Amino acid sequence: MNEPLFQPLSGNTMPRFGGIATMMRLPHVDTTVGLDACFVGVPFDLGTSNRNGARLGPRQIRTESVLLRPYNMATRAAPFDSLQVADIGDVAVNPFNIVKAIEDIALAYDEIIATGCRPISLGGDHTIALPILRAMHHRYGKVGVVHVDAHADVNDTMYGEKIAHGTPFRRAVEEGLLDCDRVVQIGLRGTGYHADDFDWCRQQGFRVVQAEECWHKSLAPLMEEVRERVGGGPVYLSFDIDGLDPAFAPGTGTPEIGGLTVPQGLEIIRGLRGLDIVGADLVEVSPPYDPAGTTALLAANLAFEMLCVLPGVAYRT
Ligand code: MN
Ligand code: MN
Repeated sequence: MNEPLFQPLSGNTMPRFGGIATMMRLPHVDTTVGLDACFVGVPFDLGTSNRNGARLGPRQIRTESVLLRPYNMATRAAPFDSLQVADIGDVAVNPFNIVKAIEDIALAYDEIIATGCRPISLGGDHTIALPILRAMHHRYGKVGVVHVDAHADVNDTMYGEKIAHGTPFRRAVEEGLLDCDRVVQIGLRGTGYHADDFDWCRQQGFRVVQAEECWHKSLAPLMEEVRERVGGGPVYLSFDIDGLDPAFAPGTGTPEIGGLTVPQGLEIIRGLRGLDIVGADLVEVSPPYDPAGTTALLAANLAFEMLCVLPGVAYRT
């Protein structure tokens, strides 16, 4: 290791309520050159179909992340012992033109991952997964995906539009970005229009795990199956906070009852250890609907857990 690794600012150096609220109080840098992983915000919500506000997600997740400490007491992961990680700030997204916005995002991610840096993205609504997956495809070819969500996000159109937060995985399939046999969707549920809303995914070869299949049990056995299924190539993790129950994550735009628990969310992310995770996102946190900050706090912790399962993370006893 040539240079000292960046460390989150300790709560014993600067009070946690002081200083600049970067993600995990890490240094902010302008480039991913020299970084193994980064946190990056995508303040964008032009694709939302109901309650908006996810454009404010990155800032609020960073605010709640000030309480995060650098060592994972459960898994013993010590990511800052072995990886160079920083907060690279936000993508400058066009706030008026959705088509231009997703072009902006794809171009930004082409640059972010050009060095092999693995981005953990703070959304933003789920529309951002499409341009990120386009960039992933440019660099890595077809990727496997683990998609946690209440919704399949495979609508053909919404209100006649091809680009929205309910369409990214439909577009990704059409554009050949995904290795469909290595795609798993977990947590799908709620009311729909037709059985086809989820069956279309199965027809593409996805493994669809509806929420009911997750109720009342540990997801550790499921994750063994998931690792088996998505391994053998690059994997992208896309985590819509509404995959978790609105009791735990109320601050989101399209909440659905009967969702996953926080421990199940942790089991999913921790269960990805050992895979070639090339990037991950945490999307759909809407601070205006999150009065106590609990959803953003949860999101900040889940983003840290994502960092803890990236390739090359040190484990320290
Ligand atoms: Mn979604
Ligand atoms: Mn959703």
